[in-house]
Amino acid sequence: MIRTGLTGYPLSHSLSPKLHEAAFAALSLHGEYLLYPVAPTETGGLARLTSRIRNGEILGLNVTIPHKQAIIALLDELTPSAQAIGAVNTLYMEDGKLVGDNTDAPGFHADLMRFLTNSISEKKALVMGAGGAARAVVYALLKDGWKVTLAVRRADISQAQALMESFKPQTGGSSMERVRLEAKDLGRLGNGIWLIVNATPIGMFPEVDSSPWPDHLLFPHGAAVYDLVYHPRQTRLVREAQAAGLQATTGLGMLVEQAVLSFACWTGQEVPREVMFVAVES
Ligand code: NAP
Repeated sequence: MIRTGLTGYPLSHSLSPKLHEAAFAALSLHGEYLLYPVAPTETGGLARLTSRIRNGEILGLNVTIPHKQAIIALLDELTPSAQAIGAVNTLYMEDGKLVGDNTDAPGFHADLMRFLTNSISEKKALVMGAGGAARAVVYALLKDGWKVTLAVRRADISQAQALMESFKPQTGGSSMERVRLEAKDLGRLGNGIWLIVNATPIGMFPEVDSSPWPDHLLFPHGAAVYDLVYHPRQTRLVREAQAAGLQATTGLGMLVEQAVLSFACWTGQEVPREVMFVAVES
């Protein structure tokens, strides 16, 4: 029996078990994907889980909010991307060492490549948010040659500053721009933005009537909109961007891509993406 799963808190709305159970079934593997909720206040909870991976009881785990950074102290090694991003979402054993990887960045990039069919005049992106997912997105975009502007709320400024500092090696030392997530600042960016990414939870169930994009502000002409939120399937941001004639998608494809990559870390096998899409759509 291959035992894998997900730790984070809370985990009640996670789609990950559906994705991975469909993958085991499609590949005729005898496996299970369980939820291991660990409250942020639960002392020793993460250490107990990592020792179960070390002793072989659990083959590997996904890690989500709020443990993507805290788990790093319990690991032996990070992959280069997890190191650069400073957050981990996949754990596995390799040569007797407990390794942390980040499949969000390549998962986002793979789905972005599928999604972006418009011609892009300039690789200039606006990323809203500066948390763990934003770090993965910014890393993927910088590696792909994009110039990135971060849009954050006032409370995020130091988090954004830290993010920008840590990616200086990827930007060749040149600084990324940072603006406030407000109509005045976003309006000033004008039409030079070709990709807008929402990496905040704004618009996520149950706050489905919210959007990170300020009311009454026009979207940049010709931009594509990628909303990492995938619950609901159509967010207000995506609906409004499409109504304005823009190409827009929610983040279900990224969820599937990062799951395909995690599954491959554990089993060495690649799951057909359609299997996972069918599982979540049902
Ligand atoms: P996180 O680490 O908690 O970061 C969230 C970021 O959004 C922080 O910068 C936060 O600022 C900001 N934010 C939160 N509420 C805001 C508001 N009302 N106005 C402005 N900024 C706000 O979370 P995360 O892990 O980055 O996840 C962000 C979203 O991405 C979640 O909805 C998650 O489900 C989604 N996600 C999707 C995928 C996928 O596969 N599609 C993968 C990863 C994440 P503060 O620090 O000031 O609160």
